[in-house]
Amino acid sequence: MNVYDGQRIAAMLEQHGFTQTEDVTDADLIILNTCAVRAKATDKVYSALGRIRRAKKPNALLGIVGCVARESGADAFKRIPELNFVLGPQSYHKLPEILKNPDTKLLNIDLGGLEKFDELPQTTKSPVVAYIPIQEGCNHCCTYCIVPYTRGRELSRPFDDVIHDTINAAKTGAIEICFLGQNVNGYKYTDEKGKLFKLSDLICETAKLPEIQRIRFTSSYPTEMSDDLIEMFGIEPKLLPFLNMPIQSGSPRILKKMNRPDDIDTYKTIIKKLKTVRPDIQISSDFIVGFPDETDEDFAETLRIARDIKYINSYSFKYSPRPHTAAAIMPNQISEQIKSVRLQQLDNQLNENQREFNISCIGKEMICLCEGDDKTGRNLVFRTPYMQQCIVEKPDYKITALQKIKITDANKASLRGEIIK
Ligand code: SAH
Repeated sequence: MNVYDGQRIAAMLEQHGFTQTEDVTDADLIILNTCAVRAKATDKVYSALGRIRRAKKPNALLGIVGCVARESGADAFKRIPELNFVLGPQSYHKLPEILKNPDTKLLNIDLGGLEKFDELPQTTKSPVVAYIPIQEGCNHCCTYCIVPYTRGRELSRPFDDVIHDTINAAKTGAIEICFLGQNVNGYKYTDEKGKLFKLSDLICETAKLPEIQRIRFTSSYPTEMSDDLIEMFGIEPKLLPFLNMPIQSGSPRILKKMNRPDDIDTYKTIIKKLKTVRPDIQISSDFIVGFPDETDEDFAETLRIARDIKYINSYSFKYSPRPHTAAAIMPNQISEQIKSVRLQQLDNQLNENQREFNISCIGKEMICLCEGDDKTGRNLVFRTPYMQQCIVEKPDYKITALQKIKITDANKASLRGEIIK
C-alpha cells in the first residue's frame, strides 16, 4: 500500500514540475511516507527525521505522510519543529497546498474516505506490477492492530473505478495486477441499481484483459475467503497459485484475545478447499509472537501450525504494543527477552519450510516475471508464481517480461534458473 501511495505522490509532484533525487542534501521537498504498524517503524521515522533535518537545504520543505502522521498529529510539529506538513494516509492529495503556502504548517489527518483516489492524477506509465487499491481501512478490530485507527473503517471503491484503473495500468505497461486493501477479500461494492460486486468479480473482469497475465491480492482475512473467491483459484489460471492468509497464532486461546477467528478447523478447511480447486497452491502467513499472556504451550501451538501447514515466505513479528489498541493495556505483557527467543524459534521453523519448498522447485519449469537487473547488473531478477526471487544470468538478446524459466538451484532466500527458449 505504501509503495502505491508513494507512486501516486511522485506522479502528483511530477505534475508540479518536480523530479526525483536520491540525495537528501539536493532535495527541495522531502517526504517520508510512513508506517505505524509496529513501534519500530514509528521510531525509524523519527530517527530519520532527526538526520534529515540537519542534512537538508535550509529552505527545503520537509513532511511526513501516512500512518505515523495520523498517529502523531500536531505532536509531530512539537517533536520536529522543522516539519512543514503532516498528512494522514487519506489526505496526502492535499500536499500541493504546502507548495502554494510554504510558510504555513499544514496538518490534515482526517479520514477523508476515498476522495484521494479521485483527486490524484492517473499514471501515464505503469510498472510491470501495478498495485491497484480496491478498499481501504478495516472493520475487524484485531486487538493488537492500529490500522482501524490510522486508516479508518472499511470503504470499498466503486467497481467501475477499479476497472478503469486496471485498464489504464494494462494499457500503460502492467503485466501483473496486485489488488490491495487492508481487508482486501472483504471488498464489497453495491452500485446504484443494487448490484453487488465482490473481489471475485474484479478478478473475473481483470482476467479478460489480454495484457494482464498475472493477478494476485493482499492482505486477506481468513474468514473472508468466501466460496466464490476460493472457486476463482480453480477457474482462473491468471490468478497466481499463492495466497497470504495470516493466522497470527496457532493457539485458539490467544486468537480469541486477539479478536481473530479462533477456530483452527475452519482455517484448515479453507486451505483444504483451496487445494481441492488448485492442488499446486501455496499459503503464507503472518505471525505475532509474545502477544499478552501467551504461554509456552500457546507458542508451541504456533510452532505446530507453522510446521503442519508448511507455510512458505511468511512474516513473523514480536508483538508491539500500539496506541489506541486494546491489547496494549492487557495484563501479562511478555518480556522482550521471551519474545526474542520465541521469534528465533519460529523463524527457524519458517526458514526450514521455505528452504524445503525452494529446493522442491529445482528441476521445475515456471513462467516468471522479470523485475529488472540485480545489483551487479549481470543478472536479471524474476518472480516466480509463488513470489520467490529467481536469479537468471542476463542473456545477450532482448527478452519480454514473461519467460519460461527452468529452476536449476535453490537456497532458503532465492532460486537460480535459466531461460528456456
Ligand atoms: N491487514 C493489514 C495489516 C497489515 S500489518 C494490512 O494489510 O494493512 C502486517 C502484519 O503486521 C499483520 O498481519 C500482523 O502480523 C503484524 N502486526 C500488526 N500489528 C502488530 C503489532 N501491534 N505488533 C506486532 N505485529 C503486528
